[in-house]
Amino acid sequence: MKLEDMPIKAAMWRTANSKVECLLSPRHCKMNVGQKGFCGVRKNIEGTLHSLTYGKTVQLTQETIETEAVFHYAPDAPILSLGNIGCMLACDFCQNWKTAQVKHLDEKEIHYHTPEQVVDIALQRGIQILSWTYNDPVVWFEFVMDTARLARQKGLKNLFKSSFFISLEAAAELCNVIDVFSISIKSMDEAFYRRLSKGWLPPVLEATKLVFANGKHVEISNLLITDLNDSEDHVKRMASWVLDNLSDKVPLHFVRFHPDYKYTHVPRTPVERLYRAREIARGMGIKYCYIGNVCEWVNTQCPNCGHCLVKRYGLNAYITGITEDNRCQKCGMESNIIRLRSTGVEATNVARNDEWQGAVSEKQFKWHGDINLVHIVGRNESDIPGIVVCQRKYEKDKEAAPVVMPLPPREEWRFSISKGDPLETGITIKHQPYIHVQLFRELDRAHFPTQPDMDGYEWTQVESS
Ligand code: SF4
Repeated sequence: MKLEDMPIKAAMWRTANSKVECLLSPRHCKMNVGQKGFCGVRKNIEGTLHSLTYGKTVQLTQETIETEAVFHYAPDAPILSLGNIGCMLACDFCQNWKTAQVKHLDEKEIHYHTPEQVVDIALQRGIQILSWTYNDPVVWFEFVMDTARLARQKGLKNLFKSSFFISLEAAAELCNVIDVFSISIKSMDEAFYRRLSKGWLPPVLEATKLVFANGKHVEISNLLITDLNDSEDHVKRMASWVLDNLSDKVPLHFVRFHPDYKYTHVPRTPVERLYRAREIARGMGIKYCYIGNVCEWVNTQCPNCGHCLVKRYGLNAYITGITEDNRCQKCGMESNIIRLRSTGVEATNVARNDEWQGAVSEKQFKWHGDINLVHIVGRNESDIPGIVVCQRKYEKDKEAAPVVMPLPPREEWRFSISKGDPLETGITIKHQPYIHVQLFRELDRAHFPTQPDMDGYEWTQVESS
């Protein structure tokens, strides 16, 4: 499918002289007939603003909610991640530039779904949360609104992961359908936004305050880039803003950068600077501060007594110290963690042996270096049901219980799995011979890898029939 196929009339615009003016982001692009806006996915077609991306997404992916820098809402819940195309910013250090920056888009990455199909997939897979993510869902406004509204009617929740360079009108509309906002604030420095993200800071802060004032669950993340915005002064300004404008209970995540896009010359953020940022923010009064893209130090502790409430490793979470009525098991303080009621349908199942006896093709992947996370895509090329079985491996040949992804005839499914324990060495994947499996290595979370990795020692075909 091509980007320009099936445009639909956009929301949030007006006519200005002989142009159309988009009101979705603060950029307010003014377009002559035939022109596109800065994001590359909204176009003036015969005097009417159109969205070019309605229903167009990169491959849907099942992940855990921790992928989205959300730690205080439904820990370890599976989410259905939807990422589309284009962005209203253009960060030089973008970690998703192959889909966010339209000029780099490979149209083979485009998949098409209706709102009904998205909601049906989530329901069939037992996933309770849709996650609007990856590039930036602001530019996908019409599809997000339609799908999120339908999802809510079916009892699902919506998570919006965004850098939130958005108009206040659009942010207010989102409050009608979105439950959780994970907002990435790049810096507290206006010059940083202008120079490196091609946007400006005040609208981001105003929109963030608006959704928080509307009672939405908000978590803030800040990508700390080596020598650029990882100084003590920067961290203090970020923590101060959260304390002064939101709350000391809003989780703040300092996230490790990896070299990408126009910032391949800048090294990965030293881990000690992330630890230091966390200590500074906690010292200033932030109650829940985390570091991202680092496996350790991501537990939630009760700020009153220090008891471990949620234990985490990588993107895996285990509720360990919270009572049924959401309090610290040790001191009784309110936990500040929201839990969803179970629908009774599990998103992944522990397999019985007889369910996966036919899964005879086996491959192994070893965790190595900073690669602690992979996307796995299984495609059933037959007319009979199949499965992909994924099993964690530990030192001394120990194994965890297998997880099974059902694959109905002719269906494809993408899911992520991350290292869940320091002693875990890798994963084994089994499937029937008629299932085609690809593996995509991911350097960091909330990043959509586009190149499959089928070669090398890490991805070893053990046996095939
Ligand atoms: S959403 Fe796109 S077209 Fe609209 S103002 Fe922002 S960058 Fe311009």
